[in-house]
This record gives sequence, structure tokens and C-alpha cells, in this order.
Amino acid sequence: MLTPRQLFLRHQAQTSDFPLLLEIERAEGVYMYASDGTRYLDLISGIGVSNVGHRHPRVLAAIHEQLDKYLHLMVYGEVVQAPPARLAQALTATLPARLDNVYFTNSGTEAVEGALKLAKRHTDRTGLISCHNAYHGSTHGALSITGSEGFKNAFRPLLPDVRHIRHNRFEDLLLIDEHTAAVVIETVQGEAGVRVPAPGYLPALRQRCTEVGALLILDEIQCGFGRTGTLWAFEQFGIEPDILLTAKGMGGGMPIGAFIAPQHIMAGFKTDPILGHCTTFGGHPVSCAASLATLRVIQEENLLAGVAAKAARFREKLVHPGIREVRNCGLLMAVEFDSFDVLKPLIDRALWEQHLLTDWFLFCDNSLRIAPPLTITMEQIDEACAGLLSAIRN
Ligand code: PMP
Repeated sequence: MLTPRQLFLRHQAQTSDFPLLLEIERAEGVYMYASDGTRYLDLISGIGVSNVGHRHPRVLAAIHEQLDKYLHLMVYGEVVQAPPARLAQALTATLPARLDNVYFTNSGTEAVEGALKLAKRHTDRTGLISCHNAYHGSTHGALSITGSEGFKNAFRPLLPDVRHIRHNRFEDLLLIDEHTAAVVIETVQGEAGVRVPAPGYLPALRQRCTEVGALLILDEIQCGFGRTGTLWAFEQFGIEPDILLTAKGMGGGMPIGAFIAPQHIMAGFKTDPILGHCTTFGGHPVSCAASLATLRVIQEENLLAGVAAKAARFREKLVHPGIREVRNCGLLMAVEFDSFDVLKPLIDRALWEQHLLTDWFLFCDNSLRIAPPLTITMEQIDEACAGLLSAIRN
């Protein structure tokens, strides 16, 4: 009989010629366990997903409870189901009053797609603006606004009428004009290697969008759900979006995403045409039950309160002449080295010798990604930093 590893390589679609090939049997909290019993410390949370840790007991309980009632019943938006309805209420309660309507999706990229359509529908414009080095997803619309030519060239033609501005460059905001349906921006850029907005940048962007009647769409798919120390990253920058995107950490390990907008904007999907946006599985009751439990864990276990101190501990410990810079917004962190050639062997040593799972960034390959579950303890941070420094020294 073939092993899972052989089957994985033979029958499962691959996206690179050098998959990690780490084989995990179970996971709990900040740890993942291989079949040979080796314990790995997860420093990237499945790329920004396991913010409350793996298999949080309250998330598991909510999933079990829903499993005993029903699974899928009907396509999105036809049948009243308590889990998505309760989750929509709980999410909007955390947001500015205007953002009172939630459309649930299966993933981040699907939330981006829905939001782009909604912005075009609402403004009756076609122009879309996003940032260089932004990552918004892999489907055609989200890919179109992703800010990397290398990523897109093989798949053209993509959406027309897309322009990119340089992140944090105030002068580029003038490209946003009366032709622009929406500007899509990550509140904190993730795959660009953790780029925090400069003081005043997001307020200036917000003001420009308002002036010209363009919608501001904040992509918090990676930086939302507590990752930066506030539930939503935009809370730290004194602005409000017209449409908010979330996914990843939202499900506590289950697949779910959403775009959230004022009801009068969302109403654009109801008429001309009706069913202007559809999904079969969006708002799956089990995912929604898991998501509501995840939100409650973040709120009731006070996970946000510890984020700044934990990030500070990483920064305090990660000091070495080989480290050029540490960038972070809460526990979304990038540790910069001279080059990918320095970083790649370090990531491999950290994994196979120190049993620490890290990564680099799609559009920043000289920087180490650190985004652990928010539940990580100070002792676990010390353990991680000691292991990383040892991998750096070797
Ligand atoms: N936007 C951002 C900022 C992301 O980081 C990602 C995923 N890395 C996406 C969108 C796409 O999300 P998904 O992989 O769930 O489609």
C-alpha cells in the first residue's frame, strides 16, 4: 500500500517542485505532531488561520453541536439558518454601525470577488485600484488586483481597468478619481512582507476615496481577526472602510470568509439582476458555528490584550547581526535577512533541526514569516526564539 506521502506526490495537485513534505498526524494549541511523535511549534498558524490555536476546545464543541443538527441545507441566502444569522449579528456588533450586512463566502479570494462585483454594481464604474505587492487571491478577479506582474503574466487577459499604486506613497493617491469604483488595500500588507501604513496614509486614502466617490475596500483576510492586536486592524489607523473583507482566522480552522458592507450597498445584489451573487456553500453552518466560537474565544479569553507584549518579546529576543530588520503589527511579523539564499536554509534548519514551522512571504523572499497562534505563551516564544537564533548561528 502506498503511503500518504507517496499518494500526495502522485495524485494530489502540486503548486511547486519543492513542497515542505512535513507529515502531521494531529495538532493541538500551538503544536503539530508528526507521525513519528516529533512535536513542531507552529509559528505561522497555517498562514494566519489558527489564531486561537489548533483545535480550540470551544471551537470543537461548537462544531460538534452543529454536526448533530444539520450540515448543508440550501444555497446561500434562501433558508434561515441560525449559525450564519447569529454570526452575522456578532460580527457586525464588532464593527462601525454602517457595516451592518454580511455576505458569507468559502474563502478569502471569494470574498474579494464578491466585493469587486458589489463595488462595480454600486458605483456603476469599472476602475479598480490596488497596491503594488498586494496579494488578494488566486481567482481571476482577485488575481487581477494582486500587485505582482510575475504572478499574473501567465494568466492574461485578466480584468481590464485595474491600476496599481505604490503603498504608502501619498502622491499616488491622485490616481484615484471619478472613474474609480473601488480601492482595495490590505490594512497591513501581508505578502509584501508586513508593511504597516505610514502615519496619515490610510486617512489620506480614505479622504481621497470619499472625495471622488470610490469605495474603500479593506482586505483584512490575513491581518484581521485579532492578528494585529485589535480584532480589526483598521481600528488602529483611525479609518473605516466601505467594505471589509475577512477569512482565514475567522473560522478557527474551518473554511469561511465574508465581505461586510452597509445594507444599502449590499442590496445591489438583489435586483437587476436578482441573485447578483451566488454561492452554494458560502455560510456553511458548521463553519459559521466554528467562527462564532472563535470570535467568542478571542473576546472572552482576552486574547487581544496579550498580543503587543508577545510581539515585543519576539522583538526583544530576536537580535542577531544577521537580522536586518523586524517589522510587525501585533503578531504579524517579518524578520528580514540579507537574501533568500540566507533565509531558505535557515527556514529548513529551523524546521528539521529545531522543529519550528516558519515560512517566507510571497512577495518578500528575504523575510521570515512569524504569525503564531495568539495563544502562544511567553515561554513558548522564548523556546521559539532560542531555536531560531540557533538556526541562524549555524
Ligand atoms: N487576501 C489576503 C491579504 C491574503 O493574505 C489572502 C491569502 N493569503 C487572500 C486574500 C486569499 O485568501 P484565500 O487563500 O482564502 O483565497
